[in-house]
This record gives sequence, C-alpha cells and structure tokens, in this order.
Amino acid sequence: MTAYVSAFDLFSIGIGPSSSHTVGPMKAALDFAERLRDHNLLDQVSRVTCDLYGSLGATGIGHGTPGAVVAGLRGLDPETCDPADVRTAWTGLEASPEVALSGTHRIAFRMDDIVFNPLVRLPAHPNAMKLTALDSGGATIATDTYYSIGGGFIRREGDATSDVAIADWAHPFATSAALMDICAESGLSIAEVAFDNELARHTADEVNDRLDRIWKAMSDCVDAGLRTEGVLPGGLKVKRRAALVSEHLATEDFWVGGGRRDTTIEWLQSFALAVNEENAGGGRVVTAPTNGAAGIVPAVLKYYMRFVPNANIEGVRAYLLTATAIGSLFKTNASISGAEAGCQGEVGPACAMAAAGLCAVLGGTPQQVENAAEIAMEHHLGLTCDPVGGLVQVPCIERNAIASSTAVTVARLALHGDGNHIVSLDTVIETMRQTGLDMSTKYKETSEGGLAVNVVEC
Ligand code: SF4
Repeated sequence: MTAYVSAFDLFSIGIGPSSSHTVGPMKAALDFAERLRDHNLLDQVSRVTCDLYGSLGATGIGHGTPGAVVAGLRGLDPETCDPADVRTAWTGLEASPEVALSGTHRIAFRMDDIVFNPLVRLPAHPNAMKLTALDSGGATIATDTYYSIGGGFIRREGDATSDVAIADWAHPFATSAALMDICAESGLSIAEVAFDNELARHTADEVNDRLDRIWKAMSDCVDAGLRTEGVLPGGLKVKRRAALVSEHLATEDFWVGGGRRDTTIEWLQSFALAVNEENAGGGRVVTAPTNGAAGIVPAVLKYYMRFVPNANIEGVRAYLLTATAIGSLFKTNASISGAEAGCQGEVGPACAMAAAGLCAVLGGTPQQVENAAEIAMEHHLGLTCDPVGGLVQVPCIERNAIASSTAVTVARLALHGDGNHIVSLDTVIETMRQTGLDMSTKYKETSEGGLAVNVVEC
C-alpha cells in the first residue's frame, strides 16, 4: 500500500476534545445513521444502542464520546456542526430522551442507551464501539462495529477498504528513504512531492484553496483561544492561560540588561495553549494529526507567520504539505493513536511534522527536513498517555506548548547540519511502533496509570 495520506485527511476540521474519542465516534455514528437511511431502514428502527469498549469506555465521558455519538446519530458532521450542539447532545437526553436519527426519524433514546465497557478490549483496536439498531419487537435490524483508529480516522469491521484513501499518487512512497530518493531523483522538495500527490484528487487551485482553509481554521482557533478566559469544563477546574499569557506579553515591558528580552518562544507557547484550550473546551479545532496534539502544528505555523521575516502564504502551504508527507509516514508505518502507542504516538508525530515544516520553510534541504522530523520524534520516544480525569487537559495542554518549542529548536538545530545523521526517520518511526506495542495499557489513554492516578482530583 502506498504510504501517502492526503493533507485533507490528515488535517481535518472538526471539534474537540479528541480526534479518536470525539471526532471518530461521531463519524462512526453518522456513518451508521446514514447507512440505515441509505438502505431505507430508518422507519423500522425504534431503538439504537451503543457499546463503547476499551479506551472509549474508559475515558469516553471525559472526552465527550457519548455526546459525539448522539450528535452523529442525529446526522451532524464534525466539520460543519456547531460544537455547542455536540457538547450538550448526551446530557440533554435527561430532559428530552429522544433523537431524530439522521435528522429525520424520531426514536426514544436515553442516556443509558450508551453503555461503557472499559474492561472489554476488542482485538482489532483499543478504541472500539458497536452500534445496534432494533425494531419495536427488539429484533436487530443492523449492527456494526467501528474502530476509531486515531486522528479522526475510522474503520468499520468487515470493510475491505483502507481507512486511507487510495489514489493514483504521482510519487508513492512507503518510507522516508524512498521519499529522499524521490526528492534526489526529481529535484523536488518534500512539499512539491506532496503537492503533486494531492493533484491525484484535486486541481492545483483546489489544493491551494483547501490548504488555505486549513490555515485559516488553525489561525482562527489560535485567535479564539487567545481571546477566551475562564475555566475549562470537566471538573478539574483547569484555568485557561493562553489569553493571560498573550495579554502579559503584549502589555509588559521585558527589558533586561539594557536590551529587550526575546519573547518569541513565549508567544509560540501561548499559541499552542490557545489551540489546546479551545480543544479541551470542545471548540472548533483542526486535527493535526490528532486533537490531543492539535496545538503544535498551528502554533509553529503561527510563529512562522508572525516572527519569520518574509513569511507568506506560499510558505504556509509548503509547511502544511511538508508536514503531511512526514505525518503520512507515521500514520501508515506506526500509529497516531494514543490508545495504541501512548502519547509518543500523538505529540511525537505532531512535533516531527511541525519541525519538518518549519525546517522546510526556513530553507532546509529534504535531508535536513528528514533530520528535523527524526530528532523531534526521537526525543518523544516512550512518552506515556495518562490524562488526568480522562480529560484532554493535564498534561496535554502544556505538553503541546513544550513540544512546540521543541519543534522550533529542532528545526534550527537540523539547519546547522548537512542532513547526515545516525538514526534515520524510518528507524525512529519503527522504534516508536515497537515501544508502543511494549507499553502497558495503563499508559495508553485509559487513565489507569501515571499522572492520572497520582494526581488527586478535588
Ligand atoms: S497525554 Fe498525549 S496522547 Fe494522551 S490524551 Fe493527552 S495529548 Fe493525547
């Protein structure tokens, strides 16, 4: 199989707080409702149930999974819905226990029609869910098992097709070594290779328009986070900090030792905090390549636009395309799912994508870009996923801020070299995959270990 994943699959405009626990389940429920509609079965349905297994069952409530399921059954799409409708979709059933399946067919639906089975792990993937439609006599009309496999991608059991859209890519590659060969033989940059690949599905103008829409959504998300103060939902009482940090940076004097202190890294971190606070609040977010790690790619891109001289929209597109090519390698050769690989599989690839994108737009060669991605991933190996209270807040929000700084540091470090290095990107991706397999399930988005059990919630 070709390793290339389109930018428009890797960067999907959706909602917070989780690509695997919110966006994926919403897409699965939407798909289930649309299948009932397309097979003219809606009128026969009088009840729908949903079983959430493994990690979805363990941390689903904190990640907004039940609301996402109800919203999807109602026919709402993560890209176009009002995020507020999703946030209240499940809890609102208490007062009004019904849903309009696919937006049209009303059935009774109670909060406990969604069942949490955290101890049941289906073999195909830790994020599994089963949807069942029943008639008035209790007989099953349709039942489907879905896997939310990270980054908002879903797979329906029994589907022969890959979760990754197959197309006649101009430059198929399965490894970073093959990508380097393509660049060397063609003289193309990584971004140009990725652009050519997108032409398999879109015209050049469409590719540019869609990339610009992704950038706008990312930038809007940063701006929304920088404007919003208050406490995040979920009960941990985590205070939003992005607005306060940016206000501080904008209004305070930072003169030290006769010169003005460089605050660019603090601005960068405020951008990441902003995105992840919007995500934790269930706002409009671009999956990049997941929601938990959604702050890093936009923060570094905002940093580029704000602080790099002569930054422009062509650079934005090159950044996103370079990040896509690198993200593709992670998606197809390892995992971008915290439930499968731990946080090394979310924040690691996001940092690698951002470092690669920035290195490219700062003038890096393909080898330097590959080096930047490799360094970024190498220093996230082994990172566990242990969100406190099952919420994508602690450690996730700060972790994105720190990883954004790492991405900038790494891009600049790689530019000092000639691209030759000991550990290849392919090797570090395979190491991440193996480390994820060896990692205890306690540290894979179950909130059963690490910070999740050592931080006392009050
Ligand atoms: S700890 Fe990392 S992988 Fe886990 S939810 Fe937070 S950002 Fe995602």
